[in-house]
Amino acid sequence: MGQFAIIGLGRFGSAASLELMRMGHSVLGVDTNGKLVDKYADQLTHAVIADVTDPAALDELGLDNYDVVLVAIGEDIQASLLCVVHLKSMGIQTLWVKASSHAQHLILSKLGVTRIVHPEEEMGIRVAQALSYPMVNDYISIGNGEFVVEIDISEHLEGVPLSQVLQDQPETIHVLLVKRKTQITVHPPADFILRAKDILVLLGQLDTLKTIAPKLA
Ligand code: ADP
Repeated sequence: MGQFAIIGLGRFGSAASLELMRMGHSVLGVDTNGKLVDKYADQLTHAVIADVTDPAALDELGLDNYDVVLVAIGEDIQASLLCVVHLKSMGIQTLWVKASSHAQHLILSKLGVTRIVHPEEEMGIRVAQALSYPMVNDYISIGNGEFVVEIDISEHLEGVPLSQVLQDQPETIHVLLVKRKTQITVHPPADFILRAKDILVLLGQLDTLKTIAPKLA
């Protein structure tokens, strides 16, 4: 399991920390705010009060023992950038940073951080997509316009074979699996009969998936 250090235990940093813990990883949480550190002390592997703009305080955290350091300081851009500069000069290899503005993104990209995340924008896009495609539970982009999507099918598809649902696009959409409660059928055949509450995991081009998704809802 991984070792993660999360700097800043605001809404974003604490949510990321708790989810990593839930997934079985080890998490060090750091914040200047003693109340927040106390709040998460029992839920994280370690929780420490430190001001990460101070290189001596950063040194004491032993961050080179961690697989990834995530800087999750939102509002105080100066503190975030100063911390990143110190972490880079300490030789931290894998550094993820939450960015709040385009200017900060530009500076972070020049500093050579591993990954810059924009949670508000990314979440805004996800929410908009969920609003237009409520049947899509979850999705990941795998590049070149290809997506893997998880779709809850509508109850009116009870008893319908998979081939009928995919009619026009049998080649361009790949049905990776069907989930029925705890049972998973990998690469179901075209004559697979759907049941209400089945969940389909499909792979295909976004445009094709957009035409198929409403037929499944
Ligand atoms: P969010 O939108 O995720 O809640 P915030 O900006 O409110 O983001 O939270 C960032 C957290 O980072 C706060 O809890 C704040 O105390 C912490 N923080 C800010 N500056 C420092 C610093 N220099 N050292 C350590 N933690 C800091």
